[in-house]
Amino acid sequence: MAVSDHVDFPTFMEGVKKRNPHQPEFVQAVQEVAEDIFDFIEDKEDYHSEQILRRIAEPDRVVSFRVCWEDDNGNVRVQRGYRVQNNNAIGPYKGGIRFHPSVNESVLKFLAFEQTFKNALTGLPMGGGKGGSNFNPKGKSVREIMRFCQSFMTELYRHIGADIDVPAGDIGVGGREIGFMFGQYKRITNEFTGVLTGKGMEYGGSMIRPEATGYGAVYFLANMLATKGMDLTGKTAIISGSGNVATHAAEKIVQLGGKVLTLSDSGGFVHDPDGIDLEKIQWVKEHKTHRRGRISEYADAFPRATFHEGKTPWGVPCDVALPCATQNELLGADARTLVANGCIAVSEGANMPTDLDGVHVFKAAKTLYAPGKASNAGGVAVSGLEMSQNSARRSWKEEELQQMLKDIMSGIHARCAEYGTQDGGHIDYVKGANIAGFKKVADAMLAFGVV
Ligand code: NDP
Repeated sequence: MAVSDHVDFPTFMEGVKKRNPHQPEFVQAVQEVAEDIFDFIEDKEDYHSEQILRRIAEPDRVVSFRVCWEDDNGNVRVQRGYRVQNNNAIGPYKGGIRFHPSVNESVLKFLAFEQTFKNALTGLPMGGGKGGSNFNPKGKSVREIMRFCQSFMTELYRHIGADIDVPAGDIGVGGREIGFMFGQYKRITNEFTGVLTGKGMEYGGSMIRPEATGYGAVYFLANMLATKGMDLTGKTAIISGSGNVATHAAEKIVQLGGKVLTLSDSGGFVHDPDGIDLEKIQWVKEHKTHRRGRISEYADAFPRATFHEGKTPWGVPCDVALPCATQNELLGADARTLVANGCIAVSEGANMPTDLDGVHVFKAAKTLYAPGKASNAGGVAVSGLEMSQNSARRSWKEEELQQMLKDIMSGIHARCAEYGTQDGGHIDYVKGANIAGFKKVADAMLAFGVV
């Protein structure tokens, strides 16, 4: 019997850095989880001897492939596509597809790693994966996007399946792109199965899937505020992003009585002191999706608002903040500003939007701070419900799904509280989410032996 390997945290992280050179996002994500897991597994021999954390931090596989397509001018274009299948201990791999020029192996490995814990937290049987391409949909015609999606799926189809790996949308991939990819999958395989989620309602999609991530992040926020006897009525909120997650988070904040002051995109942020109400949110949705406009144009449409070019919104005083754009968009200095301005709670709609410095600031200030793997799990949870509906060949009603989403977010909050409650009653949601997510996956892995 081999002697178990009780490496300490610095040695473990050294190994992760050495094995994953030039992959800073992946190393950052592993470090954030490992900081909490090392304490938790201290006295748990099985997790050490079976090298569970080491195994979860090594993807089951990373598939990388060439994607060729032809643009409208007849030029041949070449992109790189990926699927990272991180861990399927508790169910088929599940996680979105991202089309953005910043996509690389590091970004997708971090996202697939995070997804593994997030999916476990939902309580549904889903493993963790993520995929995408450095294809930039901005400025492309609909036909170009269609040809790219078809070419991407022409390789991806070999690696996915309703019981193998079920991708969904993410940055740059919405209902339209899912439709193009599903059409190509069906054409190649001659099979109609629930191989993708986020599908249109006409062909197996689920009600409230587009809304679920943003709404879920606000339900989680409401759960956090409730632990302090507060709710969202009259609270001011700053939100980054103006895509799917940001606009739906804004919608739910307004519905629950809050006032949204900001939205943003990669060009800068808009600050509307009158509040971004439901009508204005609808304008943003149409402007960004159908007119493919920029958030700067909001200030032309609503003259009381101001546009701040090249800036993030974290300096605007607020009660609550929801980063809903992308990774590492809220840095340590921003976190200090938020705390100094009296921000009570931060609920992440995006994945890893706060850098490690920022996470440490929120933890030290005892801010009600929810990491994305807990607070943005509503999207994948409803994707899980879409899979169930596809398998059973039925659809649930909107009210039923709304209630299930609320219950799932409350369940995730309770799991975080179970493992994250500190002496004095403060809940460390990062720790709670990391341990609860890890434990479920780890215990399944123990059952399988060394595989
Ligand atoms: P969208 O493509 O709909 O919107 C992304 C938004 O973020 C846009 O406003 C975009 O601005 C902005 N953005 C992207 N990159 C940057 C950047 N480098 N700097 C500043 N702003 C940026 O994506 P989603 O709303 O679906 O996703 C947003 C986040 O939520 C991501 O982190 C994603 O992983 C996460 N998430 C999404 C889920 C979902 O169900 N869709 C589920 C769980 C998490 P611009 O238009 O200028 O690019």
